[in-house]
Amino acid sequence: NGLLSGTSSLGSCLPNELGNSYGSLRVSSSKTRHARLVTFALIAQKAEYIWMDGQEGKKGIRFNEMRSKTKVIPRPLPAGSTNFPEWSFDGSSTGQAEGNNSDCILKPVYSCPDPIRGDHHVLVLCEVLTPDGKPHQTNTRRPIADLLSEDVLEQETLFGFEQEYTMFAKSGHPYGWPEAGYPPAPQGPFYCGVGLEAVYGRPLVEAHLDACVKAGLKISGINAEVMPGQWEFQIGPAGPLETGDHVMIARWLLHRLSEDFGIICTFEPKPMQGDWNGAGAHTNYSTKDMREEGGMAAIKAAIEKLSKKHKEHISAYGIGNERRLTGKHETASIDTFKSGVADRGASIRIPLPVSLAGKGYLEDRRPAANVDPAKFRNSEGAAENQSRHP
Ligand code: ADP
Ligand code: MN
Ligand code: MN
Ligand code: MN
Ligand code: MN
Repeated sequence: NGLLSGTSSLGSCLPNELGNSYGSLRVSSSKTRHARLVTFALIAQKAEYIWMDGQEGKKGIRFNEMRSKTKVIPRPLPAGSTNFPEWSFDGSSTGQAEGNNSDCILKPVYSCPDPIRGDHHVLVLCEVLTPDGKPHQTNTRRPIADLLSEDVLEQETLFGFEQEYTMFAKSGHPYGWPEAGYPPAPQGPFYCGVGLEAVYGRPLVEAHLDACVKAGLKISGINAEVMPGQWEFQIGPAGPLETGDHVMIARWLLHRLSEDFGIICTFEPKPMQGDWNGAGAHTNYSTKDMREEGGMAAIKAAIEKLSKKHKEHISAYGIGNERRLTGKHETASIDTFKSGVADRGASIRIPLPVSLAGKGYLEDRRPAANVDPAKFRNSEGAAENQSRHP
């Protein structure tokens, strides 16, 4: 039904008008509305299967960790369905398997409309499984799903994910910066800036926002960042799995649109040395208790718990984060756990409005832009059956 409701907007794309043949299902001569609906339902659907590879930390600074390939689905399914068929890929080419036993399985776990291809085409986020159907070691989403027991769900945890990223030209220079030099001014006028001198790359940012909205993601805003050519989008507030799923689709859309705009987008935590801000993924977090009257007590209790696992959490917060968490440029040093109200030099910040209301959420400022939003890894790098919930 969801599929058919999109029919009127298809207009001239109807296959009978294009003269396409669908074997015995060909409806070329039919001009009735009913026949047109039937015909549309028969247009095959392009499903872009998206997954995370096994290259974390292995590649050069500008490469991302996302892969995708297209499956044509003869009998379309509605966007939102998780009943898309399982598929496989060559794990030896993605850092996820050895060459002599290289197949990995893609298991669809989330789907949404494909805002780039339009019509009834879809994006399909997948978990990676081993051939025997177990979660692959790079599958960081499954441990989160397994963690969502009744008592966790009861807390109605919400996340708000601030995804910063930096644009580069193909030359390897930050996008919009003069070829052999620096922007016309040091950091200051660029954050939330406007105007040709202050802002670089807005057409891509706008196209990305449009795409996220059309895909139905819980995107809550965008802004230009402190370093020119650096931007942020926010996903949330959303539930634990939802947040990660929407972030991954939003990241994929950004990379996909980068191709069209000739701009590289990177989640590298410290793309430019010197007096230039790094790129983070501040993660705002709340439980039901924190959001209710007197929630500050629950916020403080969570911060206390977080303070005891600082090192463990840092190890899960992105590769190369030590170059970003220096204690300068609105960060706390990587070796220090510090919390404070409205303090952008803290590890955990309680936003001023939250402090005034005495309830709300906390902001973990430590995760790097390249953090896996679904991951908890210990220092050995193995996925563990835990999350970074306080
Ligand atoms: P900042 O001032 O740190 O730049 P942003 O506006 O960029 O803040 O991001 C704040 C994020 O916090 C948004 O993604 C928003 O959805 C999220 N958020 C708001 N309320 C809550 C809440 N109760 N729990 C979790 N996240 C929340
Ligand atoms: Mn092949
Ligand atoms: Mn922000
Ligand atoms: Mn920011
Ligand atoms: Mn923030």
